[in-house]
Amino acid sequence: MSKTISIVVPVFNEEGNIPHLFDVLSKVLSAVKNYDHEIIFVDDGSADRSAEVIKEIIAGDQKVSGGKIKYIEFSRNFGKEMAITAGLNACAGDCAMIIDADLQHPVEMIPAFIAEWQKGFEVVVGIRKKSKSDTWVKVIGSKMFYKIMSRISETDIKPNSTDFRLLDRKVIDAFNQCTERTRITRGLIAWLGFKKSYIEFEAGPRVNGKAGYSTAKLIKLALFSFVSMSLFSL
Ligand code: UDP
Ligand code: MG
Repeated sequence: MSKTISIVVPVFNEEGNIPHLFDVLSKVLSAVKNYDHEIIFVDDGSADRSAEVIKEIIAGDQKVSGGKIKYIEFSRNFGKEMAITAGLNACAGDCAMIIDADLQHPVEMIPAFIAEWQKGFEVVVGIRKKSKSDTWVKVIGSKMFYKIMSRISETDIKPNSTDFRLLDRKVIDAFNQCTERTRITRGLIAWLGFKKSYIEFEAGPRVNGKAGYSTAKLIKLALFSFVSMSLFSL
């Protein structure tokens, strides 16, 4: 029996991106031979036609080789962290690759992540290179975030690490045992340990729609991280 690679995609108002993402993903995956593939879309309470678009893809002829498409629909918007959590719970793969739906994560790099996994790494983390389009709020905010985190938390999170990452089944199983309700996926996975490898990538611009993470939402996420990943706040 061949091994399965799961792709987990959190989706919030991505109707304009899903068809294109699916096409690119199908192409890239069909070139990854000797594996079965599975795509898991988690619709995080989208207000647009994302859910319909996903269902149309499932109803249509599936182009993913050896592929299965799973679909989870949330009752409301819970945020990306919960969407990823649900996707990892539902995935059946020997490893899972997490990607954004807006094509900011270069799908064509997935084979490079798989190659690291084949070498025996259990977590392959995408490290985001600086981009010219970053707003100063994001640049300074992210610098401050990692500075504070490294000061107050015992868990080392490598700066600019993203959710664009591959997890081995062992890591998925360990992650699925975590019961934190307010969680930051990256932090929890760092805390779990395991053998890590890092791959740098350049985040392209969001193709369609607008980012679901406003500055306010990012600050909230940062605060959650401080509180959940360190005893400092106590
Ligand atoms: N997303 C989600 N729930 C949200 C906000 C975003 O599932 O409440 C998804 C979104 O559809 C995308 C990914 O998470 O696939 C990253 O979101 P976004 O592009 O808004 O964030 P950024 O690129 O600013 O990190
Ligand atoms: Mg984005």
